[in-house]
Amino acid sequence: TNFHSLGLSKQIVATLSQLGYETPTPIQAQAIPLLLEGRDLIGLAQTGTGKTAAFGLPIVEMLMAEMARPDNRTIRALVLAPTRELVNQIAVNLRSYLKKTPLRINTVVGGVSINKQQLQLERGTDILVATPGRLLDLINRRALTLSKVTHLVLDEADQMLDLGFIHDLRKIAKMVPAKRQTLLFSATMPKAIADLAQDYLTNPVKVEV
Ligand code: AMP
Repeated sequence: TNFHSLGLSKQIVATLSQLGYETPTPIQAQAIPLLLEGRDLIGLAQTGTGKTAAFGLPIVEMLMAEMARPDNRTIRALVLAPTRELVNQIAVNLRSYLKKTPLRINTVVGGVSINKQQLQLERGTDILVATPGRLLDLINRRALTLSKVTHLVLDEADQMLDLGFIHDLRKIAKMVPAKRQTLLFSATMPKAIADLAQDYLTNPVKVEV
């Protein structure tokens, strides 16, 4: 398999080949076609498996397809992750996939100036990568809205549970429109995460690597 045969456009395949990505990893080969069809997905996968591209590439592709619609200059993809380090790592990866597109990406994490983040968000963003606590702070300040989100990703869900974010995750999931695609990635599947998936995903496919 190559990336083109998974359903990705020539434009994205060209970007990938510049990045030195020639062959999809197992989770990419399994997940990308399903995500392009719009399916919800539970991914049992660790960091290092290529899971960021597995969810990021189809999301970029789908957001590009929606670009022609007016009123879409607001957050359409929301990726939640447990720590600042992980948020930054995800954003670096996703940013590299956006090179030939007009899509914009931003991060919000705790421990840095919330005012600066608020100003940055006012310039508009298509993809937001965030830790749950700081995201809720910004929502409470009316600095952003999740009312146009069509793709929601919960990354390292078990770690978010361990760090006490489960309540925040549920709050955030309720603010995102019900008509959306939802993805959940976790290295393990404790009951609280299975319950979360049950409540917020619709007929998900399971991919395990
Ligand atoms: P992740 O598991 O998402 O943290 O990705 C691990 C690393 O592998 C990242 O640095 C990616 O840039 C890289 N990577 C992901 N998919 C591929 C691929 N198909 N070919 C080459 N490198 C990749």
